[in-house]
Amino acid sequence: MIISVASGKGGTGKTLVATSLACSLKDRGRVQLLDCDVEEPNDHILLKPTITRSEAVSIPVPKVNEEKCNYCGKCAEVCAYNAIAVFPKHILIFPQLCHGCGACSYLCPEEAISEEGKEIGVVESGHSDDIDFVQGRLAIGEAMAPPITRKVKEHASHEGTVIIDVPPGTSCPVVEAVKDSDFCLLVTEPTPFGLNDLVLAVETVRQLNIPCGVVLNRAGVGDRKVEEYCVKENIPILLTIPLDTEIARLYSKGITLVEGMPQWRESFLRLPDKIEDIVNERSSGTER
Ligand code: SF4
Ligand code: SF4
Repeated sequence: MIISVASGKGGTGKTLVATSLACSLKDRGRVQLLDCDVEEPNDHILLKPTITRSEAVSIPVPKVNEEKCNYCGKCAEVCAYNAIAVFPKHILIFPQLCHGCGACSYLCPEEAISEEGKEIGVVESGHSDDIDFVQGRLAIGEAMAPPITRKVKEHASHEGTVIIDVPPGTSCPVVEAVKDSDFCLLVTEPTPFGLNDLVLAVETVRQLNIPCGVVLNRAGVGDRKVEEYCVKENIPILLTIPLDTEIARLYSKGITLVEGMPQWRESFLRLPDKIEDIVNERSSGTER
């Protein structure tokens, strides 16, 4: 079972939920946490894993042999990311914009483009107690998160539970992290911003045809509009975590919720059971 933990909005408690879910499940069987929030991975702050392996991630970027180039402009024309500019007697590559798709080198009529690897970050793996831990880190100044996310997900186990910590928002890195999940937990808070970004996140996971449920964090801070939206859209609220200064204090000290307040463990243990029921119900409905 692959459960992704996402939130349209940053700072809603996604890390709190992902780490506490992993810590609760580790006594039940194999559990793996993949931190795909590669621009700012922070599950490691709470789980304090021992990192045993680090691999560099590179993407192929074009390198032009200007002796062969006739400045026809074909490469710039086919580049969907505007990473190449061709002038009458000069050609410029913008590696930060390049997605490494290879179209320019493949289509260059003069075979003037070769590719060279450009390091954009690392994938680190290790363990924290009985949790298998993998995280991606995008290098400072780099913009291409999806290739690192893909590398992190290559480590996904085929056994037990895989928890994916997804970056905030609804853009390409989010889609890359969430796709292929069996279920997506959407962490939100009961505020107008929380609702606005939840609506966008729900639209995204529905486009991906992934069932979802909500974790309502900091309940009591705002209004009831998130709950009303969930009822209207038939989205189950699977866990409610109240606004509590003790929870905030634990988080600021780098302590997971279930370690600092073990009474929460049962609630997190019930989450996968509820998720499994929804997934099974959905697949039996599809089969019918
Ligand atoms: S497609 Fe090839 S030949 Fe044409 S401008 Fe680009 S590098 Fe030069
Ligand atoms: S590899 Fe793809 S993204 Fe990069 S410059 Fe070439 S066409 Fe553009």
